Amino acid sequence: MEKKKEDLTALRHSTEHVLMQAMEVLYPNILKAMGPATEDGFYFDFDLDEKISEDDFPKIEKEMEKIIKDNLSITKKEISFKEARGLFNKNPYKKEWLDEIEAKGEKPAIYETGEKFIDLCKGPHLKATGEIGAFKLLSVAGAYWHGNEKNKMLTRIYGTAFPTQKELKDYLNALEEAKKHDHRSIGKELNLFVFSDLIGKGLPMLTPNGTIIRRELETFILEEEKRWGYQHVITPSLAKTELYKKSGHYPYYKDTMYPEMKVDEEELILRPMTCPHHFMLYKSKPHSYKELPIRYAELASQFRYEKSGELSGLLRVRTFCLADAHIFATYDQAKEEIKRVLDLIDCVNSKLGLIKGKDYRYRLSLGDREDTKKYYKDDKAWDKAEEILRQVLIETKADFFEAPNEAAFYGPKIDVQMKKIGGKEETAFTVQYDFVMPKRFELIYIDKEGKDKELIVIHRSSIGAFERIMAFLLEKYAGALPVWLSPIQAKIIPISENQQEYAEKIAEGLNSVNIRTDLDHQNSTMQAKIRDAQINKIPYMIIIGDREKTAENISIRLRDGRNINNVKMEEFIEIASKIIKDKSSELWKN
Ligand code: ZN
Repeated sequence: MEKKKEDLTALRHSTEHVLMQAMEVLYPNILKAMGPATEDGFYFDFDLDEKISEDDFPKIEKEMEKIIKDNLSITKKEISFKEARGLFNKNPYKKEWLDEIEAKGEKPAIYETGEKFIDLCKGPHLKATGEIGAFKLLSVAGAYWHGNEKNKMLTRIYGTAFPTQKELKDYLNALEEAKKHDHRSIGKELNLFVFSDLIGKGLPMLTPNGTIIRRELETFILEEEKRWGYQHVITPSLAKTELYKKSGHYPYYKDTMYPEMKVDEEELILRPMTCPHHFMLYKSKPHSYKELPIRYAELASQFRYEKSGELSGLLRVRTFCLADAHIFATYDQAKEEIKRVLDLIDCVNSKLGLIKGKDYRYRLSLGDREDTKKYYKDDKAWDKAEEILRQVLIETKADFFEAPNEAAFYGPKIDVQMKKIGGKEETAFTVQYDFVMPKRFELIYIDKEGKDKELIVIHRSSIGAFERIMAFLLEKYAGALPVWLSPIQAKIIPISENQQEYAEKIAEGLNSVNIRTDLDHQNSTMQAKIRDAQINKIPYMIIIGDREKTAENISIRLRDGRNINNVKMEEFIEIASKIIKDKSSELWKN
């Protein structure tokens, strides 16, 4: 397996060299910057005044084919720094590489392809270009040198390569499939969220339709959490920097917080997390053991700086709203509370149609007793906390794996790992066991004997950030969301002008029972209206012709193509309302 991966890396890296060589032939003024093999292929960064677009790919690929057909040998040569600097004296990027190689105490090496082409490179490579089986250039984008916005913007060509044509074809098919599920293009097609240069990077705006999805999710979470014994609170989105210094977050989050602002005599900062806000609320009055556990929940706006290169649709943004909560519990209650949190997460996920083991699994993130810089020092407390989390995961028969050195600085955590289309995993949100903050903030309760006792805090989310869960759901369902989350649930399509009045009556009737209904007023054909509704992934298309008007019923075309004819409106309302109320992923009763 390992061997195969290495071979693939060499294959892709060699294809990237062939791409460079082809580009040098076609664009003699090009300055090569860098180009590695990646997990899925390779890319090549270069500096060129001419603009390259995907329209140029056929020409470039043809040149690459030539180089492959010539079966040029690829050979490694170790050379001196002096020699290397001579070879690349016109290329500032390579000169910078050479300085870095020298600073690291390594030796420079070059790879020669045939007789004319060389590049500064560590390898590994194939023995000859003829060994490249199948390749394809995929896309072109701008990329900053060293990923730093202060540097020059270079051009980057992405491509991929495989040993055989079949493997390449399979990969391209999978890529096509993943594209269909990409929440960024779905968001555009369904008009759910937009960005504006004037508002700023990583700051999405939800359209009316996007907002319907968000509000449905919020209402769902608020109701679920209430059912599970949470009390909802509202705390400010900014606070004094001092608060995060006291909590100990400051040094860990310094690079992801926004700069401080001075307001009157106070230094304020946009909050990167909610924890200390809830602590101050807890401390606003004394608490007896009888009140515990106390579960404060909030739909909390938070602000974290993400590098511009890492921003991605709704998945990585610069401000988000987290369904956050902090549970204040006695040490004895901790285990049971964590169990309840996992039950709540499973319950919420299952209503969203996310299946444990398939769409998500748990990761137990542990500390490192040796690393006293990263983690709070208290070996015994760590051992105990980790064992509690492990026991909960075992007892609830959760699908989980352990990850050393991934804990929060104040304690171990359970991460909810969502699987994206294509199999990549992302941490969606976490459940954390915290024995540190209660000490820092003197979070106490009064026990049976009237004595002050220290408690523990469980930080948790039930659904994560609304932005992220929206992205996950749009990708999972490729935009065809369950009926309860669909911005428009039914679309009335009258066949001709004749049924306009009847159509309006139906639309009014459905809207009055909270089935979100749209009447298509456009002057287009029925076929075009149906196509439009399909593109917008509307669950129910209600087709109305003279027959329906006379019989005073409706015909329904479901999103999945099924037709249900001659249904009384009352019957439709009953069935659709139940599907919506149950948050079912079905479109019709079975
Ligand atoms: Zn927290």
